[in-house]
Amino acid sequence: MLLDRQSRQGHLQPIGAFKIRGAAHALLRLDPEARRRGVVCCSTGNHGKAIAYAARHLGIPATICLSDLVPRAKADAIAALDATIRRCGSSQDDAQKEADRLVEEKGLTDISPFDHRDVILGQATIALELLAERPDLTQIVVPLSGGGLIGGVAFAAKAIKPAIRITGVTMEHGAAMHESLKAGRPVIVTEAPSLADTLGGGINLDNRWTFDLCRSLVDETLLVSEEEIYRGMRALFRQERLIAEGGGAVGIAALLAGKLRFDGPTAMIISGQNADLDQILSVARGDPVRVGDRMVKG
Ligand SMILES: *Cc1c(COP(=O)(O)O)cnc(C)c1O
Repeated sequence: MLLDRQSRQGHLQPIGAFKIRGAAHALLRLDPEARRRGVVCCSTGNHGKAIAYAARHLGIPATICLSDLVPRAKADAIAALDATIRRCGSSQDDAQKEADRLVEEKGLTDISPFDHRDVILGQATIALELLAERPDLTQIVVPLSGGGLIGGVAFAAKAIKPAIRITGVTMEHGAAMHESLKAGRPVIVTEAPSLADTLGGGINLDNRWTFDLCRSLVDETLLVSEEEIYRGMRALFRQERLIAEGGGAVGIAALLAGKLRFDGPTAMIISGQNADLDQILSVARGDPVRVGDRMVKG
């Protein structure tokens, strides 16, 4: 078996992704006046779903801004949670601009999917649970996009165990944090369609928290190709009977591609399962799947 089942974290939570942690924590910390006015966010899907879920639970009006790159299945799932959806532009940056506009116009509170202190601290709870279960861990492998997940995990894990290795994994094209770390400052990347669509989006040129967290606490970032992500999703399905979306399978993808380094027990976060069902079925069967304008097969 590929995985120690005990250490599964993230994708089996309400809304099918770990993002419920950060979203719930951020909304619970809002004062009554801000709760009454409502919240807005941009999202590649899962954060929006998490905000919608937590907001409905707390009776807070929520507006979710989505670019055209966000798959239909994710948008439908958010709408089903009673949130208002705005489709805006073809990138995460366009969606963020719309969110900024609604903050100005309606006084809504913007909850960034990653660059928000309370969101980061919510995601950090994963590291507390992992290390409580396995104090002997020497590495945690974390899917990486804007860096809220890895930033929180690294912050909490290294506070407990400074020598623990934190490895980020993301897709080859449009890897905003990876490119920014290389450049030494936040940079803009062109977004590209990916099986790991949930890992798309920039890190904001005026990044407040996650760039510095990643720069100081993440030991290495690795890139995986679409074919490798496909093989990661397929292995999880066939060997573990686990459904993971592409963004949740990048760690396994790196493992199977021989890209990970090991010096002891390693935990891997499988961060979400909200893949399009047809896509999952195709991957499980070994059929090619469409990614943008090309077909991918592992
Ligand atoms: C958001 C998300 C990530 C990455 O989280 P960041 O905090 O943006 O780095 C990874 N996997 C899934 C499934 C996600 O939804």
